[in-house]
Formats: sequence, structure tokens, C-alpha cells
Amino acid sequence: MSPVNDISYDFAAIEQKWQQKWHDLKSFKVTPSEAPKYYLLEMFPYPSGRIHMGHVRNYTIGDVIARYKRMRGFNVMHPMGWDAFGLPAENAAIKQNTHPAKWTYENIDYMRNQLQRMGFSYDWDRELATCNADYYRWEQQFFIDLYKKGLIYRKNTTVNWCEDCQTVLANEQVIDGACWRCDNKVMPREMNGWFFKITDYAEELLADLDKLTGWPDKVVTMQRHWIGKSIGAEISFPIENSSEKLVIFTTRPDTIFGATFMSIAPEHPLALKLSQNGPQEKAVCDFIERTKIAKQQINYSDELEKEGVFTGAYCVNPYTGRKLPIYTANFVLMEYGSGAVMAVPAHDQRDYEFAAKYDIPLIQVIEPAEGGMPADQAYEGPGTLINSGDFSGMDNIAAQAAITDFALKNGFGTAKTTFRLRDWGISRQRYWGSPIPMLNCEKCGIQPVPTAELPVKLPTDVKFDQSGKSPLHSLESFYQTTCPSCGGSARRETDTMDTFVESSWYYARYTNPHYDKGMIDKEAASYWLPVDQYIGGVEHAILHLLYSRFFTKAMRDLGYVDIDEPFKNLLTQGMVIKDGTKMSKSKGNVVDPNTLIEKYGADTVRLFSLFAAPPDRDLEWSDKGVDGASRFLNKIYRFIHLNLALLNEDIAPKKVNKSSRALERKTHQTIKKFSTDIENDFHFNTCISSVMELVNAILAAHKLQGEEAANPAVIRTAVETIIKLLYPMVPHFCAELWETLGHTDLLDSTPWPDFDPEKAKEDELTIVVQVMGKVRSRLQAAIDTSDEQLKEMAINDEKVIKFIGNATIKKIIVVKNRLVNIVI
Ligand SMILES: [Zn+2]
Ligand SMILES: [Zn+2]
Repeated sequence: MSPVNDISYDFAAIEQKWQQKWHDLKSFKVTPSEAPKYYLLEMFPYPSGRIHMGHVRNYTIGDVIARYKRMRGFNVMHPMGWDAFGLPAENAAIKQNTHPAKWTYENIDYMRNQLQRMGFSYDWDRELATCNADYYRWEQQFFIDLYKKGLIYRKNTTVNWCEDCQTVLANEQVIDGACWRCDNKVMPREMNGWFFKITDYAEELLADLDKLTGWPDKVVTMQRHWIGKSIGAEISFPIENSSEKLVIFTTRPDTIFGATFMSIAPEHPLALKLSQNGPQEKAVCDFIERTKIAKQQINYSDELEKEGVFTGAYCVNPYTGRKLPIYTANFVLMEYGSGAVMAVPAHDQRDYEFAAKYDIPLIQVIEPAEGGMPADQAYEGPGTLINSGDFSGMDNIAAQAAITDFALKNGFGTAKTTFRLRDWGISRQRYWGSPIPMLNCEKCGIQPVPTAELPVKLPTDVKFDQSGKSPLHSLESFYQTTCPSCGGSARRETDTMDTFVESSWYYARYTNPHYDKGMIDKEAASYWLPVDQYIGGVEHAILHLLYSRFFTKAMRDLGYVDIDEPFKNLLTQGMVIKDGTKMSKSKGNVVDPNTLIEKYGADTVRLFSLFAAPPDRDLEWSDKGVDGASRFLNKIYRFIHLNLALLNEDIAPKKVNKSSRALERKTHQTIKKFSTDIENDFHFNTCISSVMELVNAILAAHKLQGEEAANPAVIRTAVETIIKLLYPMVPHFCAELWETLGHTDLLDSTPWPDFDPEKAKEDELTIVVQVMGKVRSRLQAAIDTSDEQLKEMAINDEKVIKFIGNATIKKIIVVKNRLVNIVI
């Protein structure tokens, strides 16, 4: 057996040793200090059972940044906790005949262990789980505060209902008509529930997107679209033979002279009323019934074939006096605008298709600059108004304000801004969630639970049956209570809160998670907030991030925090994919982190996940890549152990020979490259490449013998640089080697290596000298020699003088550090 193989990198022992040390020393525990703070946060996990490769990648990225920032002198807060309420716990409980709490806490214990096994540098003293009453009691308090401020209300509404999950879903949780969690079709259902008035903040949520310069553009765009501000006009159309008016909202008042019919939602109260006792009554009733059923089956209007029926009634366009037939149509949504729209088939494609189907005429009112109209479709672009009375001849954009003004002056309309954003319905008919701290007394009405009685604890003595219904609804010991006003009997709210409520403020709670005098310890929050770097999946681009932004603003307005936005910088990491698709159980392409850690060690897994792709891109799984990462670490480990005597030779560089100088230069160039790439969107993969080059340079320099041999002190500096640079990525490995080299300090408190531009400089460069584009000579010049100096050197070069002869020099072109071309 060769001696090389005797030196093996015993990752299991090394990783355990350092994890124990960090744990014993509480190395990552932080408190506010004089040092600049850095709050690094990864989206906390749902305790589903075990961590997967997506988690490994997400948390590894975070851990590298946390450790790097510590070496840069920041006071880094890096907490971890559990988004612990939610449906899977309840489903598992029903299936396995256990309790959701037991299932959840067992999973937390298991996963905490897995995270520790990865060597992540969390301040475990800040750990929190949202299913603890210590946590949700403040959420209940906050709920009452918001209720008293008028930011929470109760209403009857058509909600999105998932029959499989037996619960209501927020609009944001319905994806293409299906439940975001179980993928089943979502049905509409009438229900009474609690709503957060997020729409009160719509304008600010939109405007403050401009402040989020550290967020990916795509996420900002998605939020902007979701908030969906529309500026337009609200216009009243009088209904013929009636005192009623039809109120519509339009973003295109410039096309109002082209309206040829009106459409109202089937749920619009006027739909039935207008057709009553008329010839169209039966047709309208049938249509409304049919649409209701169709919507239950499809739910999303744009999937429905556009259909409608004439109500028999007309309204009058107040601009033209023209009579417009009123249709009820399945594509008009009651929840948006006023549930009624004017239809301009010449300039709206949807209206065009509807008009073609029902043989309704169209009137062109906008003339494109190039003239004419497209065949067989609506023209939705800009142009000049025609057929529009006094407004004809105006530019269509300018006409929008003018036409709206006209309505205002004549008392039948006004400018209006609407938002696509809806209020956030948070009532869930589930058990495993935070109870809503409200009660209802038949005499006194709905009121909050008195503060002294908080928390309203989730009862644990419940039985689950197979129906999937929440046991709270039938648990008398829970819902039976006394009215705080009259002392009579009252009924507690038995719905629980959407789990997105818990994740909307956990980042603020981390600043002092054990604070027992309120939701947020203001002092701690004002030191640590906002989060400097937030990391998570792009699937949370709308829901979680929008709700968190809303909560931050609401907490600010209640005096809990003094920031406007929670997350200064956001990194959305890509997915981990294998064989071209996302890892999933159903596809059978899951790689279990545990197996990998056992085979290769946590550091190799970390290194691979960082090297395989930049953080914001998808990472394609490769067994070969993992092997490569392992070999690379082993190479460094063996080199250091085989050369300990040499590396510990304490000799200052006597004579700087060429190879020593070259290695020193490479070392500083690597520091520069690595530091730049890590600061520039965390391009860890190119950071690692640069270290690989430096390792190769060390091995090459070490092979040189005699006069050429590199100075051991220079080799040692290069080796130590590698250990420092790689430490945030492979911390156990580097901590061990640091100790092997005789250091007793911890790398977290060791400063990041200094870059010395002098040492990184190339000593001399060869500059090509051309005369009329042909190479005539070569010069040796120091790097960054000025243009003037290079010109001077070139025209005084003997070979060049020979070629120029008596010709006149017209021009000298210098390409810095490369060439000089003389034009004669
Ligand atoms: Zn579902
Ligand atoms: Zn009462």
C-alpha cells in the first residue's frame, strides 16, 4: 500500500468533532453589539419529516453567506425554526391515528438533527416553532389589534373550496383552478370568514416595490402584476324604462363611443331583475343556473367558452344617447370592478369574439396611425379617435382624461383606480392552526377574546375521524364560552388561521423569540431588522412575500417595528433536478441527503451543491459531480498532511525567485476573484473554480526542485488562503486543517484574507509592436504601462526604426497591455 493512501480524510469523525465544538462553544449565538449587523435568513421549513436536496441547497447557500459575513467582521444573525402548522400534519394524524402535535414535534426533532449534521451555523437559541402557544399567542394579540384598527373584518363571500383538503383557499392558493397543495379542482362555496384588509395597503405595496432594488426583477414584476393597479373611469349608464343605473368600470374610456352592448356577471343582482316578467326571463334563469354549474366544474372564467344571453333590457350610453343591449355573460366576474363592463367589440378581443357569436355590430372609434383595421380581430393598439363626437381627432391616450372629465362635469362618472389585489381571507376550517381569538354572543354580537385570556390554546384532547372535518367544530369544551360583556353564554370561533399568517412575521420574532411582553421586542427589532439577505424558492414570489410585506407595514403602523420593508435583498434559488425534472417521489428520482452524507460527508455534499450551478439557476444532479467534489477535498487534505514538515518550516522568503513570485501572484489573484464573485450575486461556482486553479498552482510549485523551488513560506500562505476561502463552504474540513497547521483560533473569527494589488500584479507583459498591421517587434513592459510610455518605447525600438525608415508616422494606436500599431 502506498503511503498516500494511508492518509485518508475521515470526514465522519472530523464533522462530528467540529459540530460538537460549535455546539459547546455556542459559536453562532449572537446578541446586538457595536459591530455592523447582518441578518441572514432562509425561508423556514415545514416539518414534513426529513430534509430533501432542495433544503440542502437552500440552507447551504445561506450558511456560506453567514460564515463569509462573519469573517468580514459582521455580527451575523442566522436563525432557524419551523413553519409548523398546516394540513399535512392533520392528514398524517388521520391516516396514522396519531396526533398532529406528536407527528410535528417528532419531525422537528428529526430534521433539526439532520440540519445539525450538515454543519449549518445557526443560532439555535433562537429556534421557534409556530405551533407553540408562545408564538401564536402574539399572533392572536396582533389579530385583535388589527381588528380594533378596522383592518380585519368578517364577511359572507364566495370562497375557493377544496373538497379534498376540506378547507377554504385564498385566491393566491388557487393555481390554474386547482388547489396549490393537493392539485384538486377548486370549487366556489358561500361561506362566512375573516379577512385581512390587505387592500388598504395596495397603493403602498405597489409603490414600495421601487425600493426593492435587491430583489430579482421577475419577483418584483410578479408582485406588481398581482397587485394589478388599473387606472380608468367609473361611468353610470341609465337603464331604459327604469330608475336603475348600470355602473361600469373601464380602463379604456377612450373607446366609450364604440360601446355596442353591455355585459354583466351572472351573479349581478340586475341580471335577474332586468329580465323579470319579460320574454327573456326563462333564458336568463337557465343561463344563470347553467353557469353556476359550469363554474363549479371549471371555476376559472377564462377556461369557459365565452357565452351570454340577452336580458331583454337596454341602457343608454350617456355620451352618444345610443341604446345598448344588456347581456349577462359568463366571463364577467362579480368580484372584479362592479361586475359590469361596457363592451367595445372593435377594440377588445374578448368583446369582438362575443359580438361575432351573437351578431352584435361593432363601431370603430380608434384609427391606427397606419390606417385601416386588422381583419377578423379587434384593434387594441393606440391611434386617433374617430366617430367620437367632439373628441374625434384626439390622440386616444390624451382622450382618456378628457372623456373622464366630461363624465365628471356632467355628473355621470368619475376617474377611478382599481386593484386586482383582493382582501386576504384567512379562515380555515381546519384543526391544526392557530385559533382565531374571537367569539360570538347572541346578545352582544361578535367580539374579541379579552387580552387577559390569551392565548386561546388549541385543545389537544381531540379525536379525528375519517371525514377530514376539523374536530374543533364539534368540541363543546372548546367552543362553549362566556361572553365578556354580558356574562352569558357565547360561542368561540372554531375556524383557525391560514398558516401563511404565521410565516408573515416570524422573521421579526427571531429578533427576540423568547420575548414575553409582546409580539416584538422593539429594541431587538430595531437593531436586527430588516433582513439583509433572504433566501428561498421562487414559488413564494407572490403569496408569502406579499403577505410578509403587508404584515411589516401593519406592524409598523401599530408601532412594533420601524421599517417599511422586511427583506432588503432576496435570492430565489433554482430547483434541484435530476434526469431533467424536479426531484419527486412520484418520479422516483429523489436523492436522499442522508445517504450522501453517510457516503461522502456533509462538506462534500455542500461543495457539490455550490459548485454545480450558480444559486439562482436549476441544479442538475450528477453522481459524477459529487465524486469530483470528494476527490478535490481529498487532494487538498493529502497534500497538507504529506507536507506538514515543509509547511511548518518557519522561514521567511530569503530570495524571491520566479516560482515563489508566481505562486504569490496567483494567491492574490485568487483572493480577488473569489471575493468579487461572492459579492457579485454569490457566484459560488466560479469562486470554487478559482480555488481549484490555485490548488493546481500549489501542486505545480511544490514539484519544482533546487534553485527553482518555491519558498515554503509562500506555499504555506497559499495553502492557508485556500483554507480561509473555502471555510464558509466546507467548514468542518477547513476547521480541521486550520488546526492541523497549528492554529488555535476559530476561522469564524479569523479575518477574510486581504487582497494586495501589488502582489497580484503581473510583473511584465510582452507587448506586440506592429507597423501597418504587421508584427515587427516585441517589447517587455510592466503591466499597466501608460500609452504615452508605450508609444515612446515602440518608436525607439531598433527593429521598428528599421521598418519605418524615412516614412512619416501618421498615427500610433495602443491597445493597453497588448499591442502598439504604428500607421505610416
Ligand atoms: Zn387541496
Ligand atoms: Zn353578551
